[in-house]
Amino acid sequence: MAWDFETDPEYQRKLDWAAEFVRTEVEPLDLLYPNPYDRSNTEAMALMAPLKEQVKQQGLWACHLGPELGGPGFGQMKLALLNEVLGTSVWAPSVFGCQAPDSGNAEILAHYGTAEQKAEYLEPLLAGEIGSCYVMTEPTGGSDPTLFKTRAVRDGDHWVINGEKWFNSNAQFASFHIVMVVTDPEVSPYQGMSMFIVPADTPGVELVKNFHVHGFSEHEGHLRFTDVRVPADHLLGAEGAGFVVAQTRLGGGRVHHAMRTVALVRKAFDMMCERAVSRQMRKGPLAGLQMTQERIADSWIEMEQFRLLVLRTAWLIDKEQDYRKVRKDIAAIKVAMPKVMHDIAQRALHLHGALGVSQDLPFVDMMNYAEVMGLADGPSEVHKITLAKEVLKNYTPGDPVYPSGYRPALREQAREHLAQRLEHIVGNL
Ligand SMILES: Cc1cc2nc3c(=O)[nH]c(=O)nc-3n(C[C@H](O)[C@H](O)[C@H](O)COP(=O)(O)OP(=O)(O)OC[C@H]3O[C@@H](n4cnc5c(N)ncnc54)[C@H](O)[C@@H]3O)c2cc1C
Repeated sequence: MAWDFETDPEYQRKLDWAAEFVRTEVEPLDLLYPNPYDRSNTEAMALMAPLKEQVKQQGLWACHLGPELGGPGFGQMKLALLNEVLGTSVWAPSVFGCQAPDSGNAEILAHYGTAEQKAEYLEPLLAGEIGSCYVMTEPTGGSDPTLFKTRAVRDGDHWVINGEKWFNSNAQFASFHIVMVVTDPEVSPYQGMSMFIVPADTPGVELVKNFHVHGFSEHEGHLRFTDVRVPADHLLGAEGAGFVVAQTRLGGGRVHHAMRTVALVRKAFDMMCERAVSRQMRKGPLAGLQMTQERIADSWIEMEQFRLLVLRTAWLIDKEQDYRKVRKDIAAIKVAMPKVMHDIAQRALHLHGALGVSQDLPFVDMMNYAEVMGLADGPSEVHKITLAKEVLKNYTPGDPVYPSGYRPALREQAREHLAQRLEHIVGNL
């Protein structure tokens, strides 16, 4: 029997260390410095450096990576449990070396990068010395990548890139961009797009503006590429393999967001419960009112369902070692994530009364974050389509599933079956 819902004691000790460390050493950074990606903030970087060393000493640095890349190779299951700790803090993923989008970018560089690309981009990225940006979405096409127009044309030993991309997280802090572009418009987009590494200081790369999610600091760049020349060896993966490379990255990224969201959902839930037992009403605490109890019961069930689905998906990824085989499950947690985050944050907000909507508590930010999770890495609709298609692969028209579930036919079969058995029993009397 391999079903087991317990963490081994040795790893639990690591998680307990991480929880205490994040609470006492890392969360103070969240309160004073808005952005862990801004390496020009020397004061914050100086404060972060010794914290990173402590994480390395504990063997918890870059837990998403295998030993060949400087991580412990724990796998997704252990990473999920760690992310349940890190997800409450904006700074914690950077202190533990597993922050998005660098973690996903490191994954594709590790998978598809040449030895030279790994030396130049992956190694300093893993060491936390530089930042990176993943550049895919365009003003004219987001959910549907077949609409992308940004084009690269081969010119001797170089590729020349022209086009516009936007909502690229951390573009302003990145040393290099990983950019998905059309290299062959004559074939299907699934064969005609390729991925390039573009150093951020390449002439022709322009940061037009920064967007920010309401309530958060500036984070998402609008990039324009005008006659940007990159050497041919800056192609990442094979020419035409852009989609395959993208899926390698996005699968892991979605799971890691879901793992961190479990932590935020838990935080909203804990705050709701604490409020319920602390706030006194005319006849006792808020927790004594049945409508409060219903909110808490519903929230607990939704939170635990979501958490178990995330952990099971992590376990499946470790088992299959191939994101494509776990597409359905990844799509399911991607769809569940914004809803559970929104609903529990909203209930927690409501139980806090006026204070709940104020800037002093995190619930409005959490609800906003839920909306972002329903869009970033693809909107919920697209993932529901993936999920349904994967599920429906198990059904074919005319399958015996329906007739056998159809009562009259079933009853007829049972009558025949039992009549034979009865005959047999009577015959043996
Ligand atoms: C905070 C944040 C960070 C981001 N970071 C990055 C990044 O680092 N790099 C990057 O490349 N992109 C990034 N994105 C972009 C993100 O991936 C896109 O916003 C997302 O894919 C949706 O594309 P869109 O905004 O163009 O919406 P659209 O494609 O215009 O879709 C709008 C709406 O149309 C509906 N819709 C779309 N397709 C379907 C369908 N098939 N069926 C039914 N309804 C549908 C959905 O309701 C959807 O929300 C980020 C976005 C945000 C908000």
